Amino acid sequence: MAGIYIHIPFCQSRCIYCDFYSTTLPASWHMPYVEAVAREMQMRADHQPVPTLYIGGGTPSQLSVEALRRLFGAVADELTLVPNAEVTIEANPDDITPQWIEALRQTPVNRISMGIQSLSDPILRTLRRRHSAQQALRAIDLLQQAGYHNISADLIYGLPGQSLRQFADDVSQLISLGIPHLSAYALQFEEGTALMAMKQAGTLSEADEELSLACYERLIDLTAEAGLEHYEISNFARPGFRSRHNSSYWTMAPYIGLGAGAHSYQPDSATRSYNCEDAVSYIATINNGSLPSTAERLTNDDRYNELVMLSLRTCEGLSLSQLEHQFGRKRLDYCLHMAKGHIDGGRLRKTAEEALCLTRRGLFVSDDIISDLMV
Ligand code: SF4
Repeated sequence: MAGIYIHIPFCQSRCIYCDFYSTTLPASWHMPYVEAVAREMQMRADHQPVPTLYIGGGTPSQLSVEALRRLFGAVADELTLVPNAEVTIEANPDDITPQWIEALRQTPVNRISMGIQSLSDPILRTLRRRHSAQQALRAIDLLQQAGYHNISADLIYGLPGQSLRQFADDVSQLISLGIPHLSAYALQFEEGTALMAMKQAGTLSEADEELSLACYERLIDLTAEAGLEHYEISNFARPGFRSRHNSSYWTMAPYIGLGAGAHSYQPDSATRSYNCEDAVSYIATINNGSLPSTAERLTNDDRYNELVMLSLRTCEGLSLSQLEHQFGRKRLDYCLHMAKGHIDGGRLRKTAEEALCLTRRGLFVSDDIISDLMV
């Protein structure tokens, strides 16, 4: 069964660090875009049961109530969600109003992923986020009062001007509010972003790496003390609240991406396909009756590298029997040979289930370990 991802690329403004595909096209484009997504859904429909549906962006909570209704009308017409399907929508805190929640009630959404990023107003302003800390707290309260408790909060650490104390307070506050899932990422300076331009112009500097590592360490401790599982390098959840949709990416399950910039993956044919990253051309191509996507066949080495890269991020780790089954004894020996130094150095460990897992020490140098094991 394949999970479905729908990309809603609209954002009211651009955050300085963002390198996702998003656009500030006016709201008049929302309905034509949703109509095109509905058509793509029809074109790709395989009538298989759908275990997870994830509406991401961009900012899906920017859609008007009418467009949201049309989107979920198409979902109801074209997709067969399994009875306990996980249905997530990403939302910006300032879009979460009683009216928006009322509209959400008419949909199968049962999980909200909120881009909170920080509970410090000066930092939010630096990042050019649209919301304030107060709005984030109010959004959580509104959702919880309405019975939506499966909430994930995104946080960023290693931010300019952020202290360890401040970040730890944000984590503690979100935990104390009963948020059952946190995703936390170190700030990345990506090419083409306003953040990178500011760094190059010398108007903003990178946070100290030691401080960034200290934030990650505190995050691991605080979430563990509160009973959240550290189930993926950057993701923490109370038992029963892991993201099933995102977990399917890390286990290389099939998924279908709809909308501009969305990706799909079919493990049976080792094919990954990419929709064009332009909402206007996406709509035009779909309206002409074609799929705006290009496909790429993954080589054996690509698939091995993806298995290493994705599974080592999870707490279950890289299954050695799966590796041997998929890629043969020679590749298993290669992997174990490359892993030996990290096992001896206490950065990787072999579990009772015969999997390679990052140790706590390994979590801090995961990129180096993963690249050592790749071909
Ligand atoms: S709201 Fe999200 S997708 Fe939009 S610019 Fe900000 S980070 Fe990027």
